[in-house]
Amino acid sequence: MLNKVLIIYTGGTIGMVQDENGSLHPFAMERIYDAVPQLKHCSYDIDSCQLQNIIDSSNMTPAFWADIADIIEREYNRYDGFVVLHGTDTMAYTASAISFMFKNLTKPIVLTGSQLPLGMLRSDGRENIICALEIAASKRVRIPEVCIFFESHLYRGNRSTKVSAENFDAFKSYNYPSLAKAGIDIIYKEHLFLPMPTEPLRVRKVFDTRVAVLKLFPGITREVVQALLSAPDLQGVVIETYGSGNAPTETWFIDALEAAIARGILVMNVTQCKAGAVKMRQYAASCEMDRIGVVSGHDITMEAAITKMMYLLGAYPDNKAHVNKRLEESIRGELNGLAGD
Ligand code: ASP
Repeated sequence: MLNKVLIIYTGGTIGMVQDENGSLHPFAMERIYDAVPQLKHCSYDIDSCQLQNIIDSSNMTPAFWADIADIIEREYNRYDGFVVLHGTDTMAYTASAISFMFKNLTKPIVLTGSQLPLGMLRSDGRENIICALEIAASKRVRIPEVCIFFESHLYRGNRSTKVSAENFDAFKSYNYPSLAKAGIDIIYKEHLFLPMPTEPLRVRKVFDTRVAVLKLFPGITREVVQALLSAPDLQGVVIETYGSGNAPTETWFIDALEAAIARGILVMNVTQCKAGAVKMRQYAASCEMDRIGVVSGHDITMEAAITKMMYLLGAYPDNKAHVNKRLEESIRGELNGLAGD
């Protein structure tokens, strides 16, 4: 019996056409089959569906994540794997969000897209879709993870980040090796996969969006920091700090964070560096944050950090202590945990 894959089309450049003014607009799923006729002749069964609204992924919201999750949950037992066609701009956020929503995943969910629309001759989309499908349909290797396939590499979704608005290799995973590489053969690195779970699948789709990202820069003012931290009903903040998790030691800055934490706002420390980890207390410039209860994001990406915070706040609305604890631990392979700290 052939393996079965479901393609879920959400929008993005991969499925776009140019209007008379040269702007790109999304088109319907059937056009994808015209652009990749090879899909009609592959060695696995493909079905496809699309979100009710096809979007540029700049319009992505947790409501769309829930729609994608609804489809996968409903069809979970009928398919061996899922391919989500998605715009590249927010693909790393969606991949992270889906990874958190699906606990005990036993099947691959592979997101892919392209830098050039499928309708264009030099599009990278054909290669990306065909490889993503082959990985999702593989009988030999089962990946129990949410992944991104882009330009020859399969990455863990919640470790990925978009790094280029121009190159075909638009994604990287700096703090975790790729899970597979497509050349003449697709070479899988099975020792890097998450373990196959034995417990049943559990899906949670509620995200709390009362969060913010505070990116530090030399010269950031007290007014800006205070304005952000006093946003009505704010529940959590990811601070993008310098280097190994360092921030200004000025009293007004630490006091503002301490007051926010005292009001019940969770504060998570993530580095602006693309590679490497937060190491609280390595420098005096992070000791104060550690003292006042800022939690370390270790080597997590910003995309995974903010979606994880929204997910945990949504999943445990009345238990901030639990959310704080889980933010520091790996729940879906998104960080290296306490190693080195
Ligand atoms: N703006 C597009 C999107 O993210 C870009 C792309 O797909 O590459 O939907």
